[in-house]
Amino acid sequence: MNSTFSEPVDWSAAVAHSCTFKTSHFIHGEFTPSLSGKTFASVSPRDGRVLAHIAAGDTGDVDRAVLSARQTFESGVWSRRSPRERKRILFDWADLILSHREELGMLESLEVGKPISHATTNDVNGVVDALRWYAESLDKVYGEVAPIGEEALVTITSEPLGVIAAIVPWNYPMILAALKFAPAMAVGNSIVMKPAEQSSLSMLRIAELAVEAGIPAGTLNVVCGLGAEAGAALSQHMDVDKIVFTGSGPVGRLIQKYAAESNGKAVQIEAGGKSPHVVFEHAGPLDIVAERVAFSLCYNSGQTCSAGTRVLVARSRHEELIEQLRKACSAWIPQDPLDPLSTMGPIASELQLERVTGFIDRAIDSGSELVMGGKRVLLDSGGFYLEPTVFDNVQNHLEIAQEEIFGPVLCVIPFEGFDEGVRLANQTRYGLAASVWSDNLSEGIRASREIRAGMVWVNTYQRSDITFPFGGVKASGHGRDRSLHALAEYSSLKSTWLNL
Ligand code: ADP
Repeated sequence: MNSTFSEPVDWSAAVAHSCTFKTSHFIHGEFTPSLSGKTFASVSPRDGRVLAHIAAGDTGDVDRAVLSARQTFESGVWSRRSPRERKRILFDWADLILSHREELGMLESLEVGKPISHATTNDVNGVVDALRWYAESLDKVYGEVAPIGEEALVTITSEPLGVIAAIVPWNYPMILAALKFAPAMAVGNSIVMKPAEQSSLSMLRIAELAVEAGIPAGTLNVVCGLGAEAGAALSQHMDVDKIVFTGSGPVGRLIQKYAAESNGKAVQIEAGGKSPHVVFEHAGPLDIVAERVAFSLCYNSGQTCSAGTRVLVARSRHEELIEQLRKACSAWIPQDPLDPLSTMGPIASELQLERVTGFIDRAIDSGSELVMGGKRVLLDSGGFYLEPTVFDNVQNHLEIAQEEIFGPVLCVIPFEGFDEGVRLANQTRYGLAASVWSDNLSEGIRASREIRAGMVWVNTYQRSDITFPFGGVKASGHGRDRSLHALAEYSSLKSTWLNL
């Protein structure tokens, strides 16, 4: 493998031509520096260079953003606007985002190292789809009338909660933000977004485009900054009605604690997983299975909460699967994310790379068999690139099989028989996603029922769509993104008794 980029890209010229870096908080429709004047450096994992210095928010900035969101909500400029008008404006916003596809994709590619071809398509499309889908729902979702009889008319209507706070991670900065702000704003809430410190730039630009599209200032505010400062202040705020979070388990639990200790705000948590592929004896062709496993491992450099990083395989198919995995994973080669042909970029930060290589080193020390990978590559670039890494004959209780790694690191664990396959699949504290591979219909259905996860795929992996819910059970969290069910996360039901 090369130690430098095959075709160096003049990224500074690319940035100058297509990107504007907005680096302050976005509060009440204006870019606003931190009250403290503090900033932090955003480093590109592509080459380790500092891209921008971003405002580091704390309690004072969060107070201003929440006040703006509250006043805007109470004024009714957005919350009481007719559903049809909200729909029209959300559509305009989606169109504007689409017309800035290259710029937004470039920001995301530079900040978190996502291949530019993925960022400008999947990630931007994900935002646009979410906005359009929830906008579409606005004049199609109705209230109810309770069956009380002659005595009264009892209506059940849905109302926005008020001020939502959303704390999101760096792995899919735009999509995960949109899966929160699109349903929240569609139903009339105001929202304060706290992007991860590794990925503020695309969110700031999307917020600016919201105002350009006609969303009233204050409906969508963005406070940048470190989790322990801006994130904690938002979670502890007394005037936030609900906090929605995607990120790590420990921080998810901290946010629940902050919510309980402050105003008892509602909480929705998605906190990752350690999702299994269960490959049964009756699985179809293993080249197809391996290709999908490799995709779920290497897409976004393995930094996906639903990445399928534990492969449980029937012993009779074990050797064949390992051979196929070798082939399929070798097709994923870390490259400069700004190369239009790149499909796998770097790990998103140096800290995360060190975390991942720490897991690899400890797995080797504990006797797991390294089949391939495990090494940093493209070192001369200054970036944080890692090869796809596969361990075989891993014991399911080991750290490498139990902890969410957030990198392209796979463990293969052989099993005997249906019951052991399902038992191992469930032997994890997580319950976000799983897949079952079998051409035996009843085996596939039985396993999909017995595995505890919010999402189970049968004979495929990582197919997602806005039309069905996504979220976890057990330590993976509670509540759901996507689908009409997500609207309920941002609304409360009101019963009104009209005496006749
Ligand atoms: P990851 O390990 O993927 O970075 P984190 O859970 O640490 O996941 O981060 C996800 C989001 O949570 C980020 O926006 C981060 O800034 C925020 N965050 C981190 N620590 C805290 C905290 N103590 N309180 C609130 N938010 C936090």
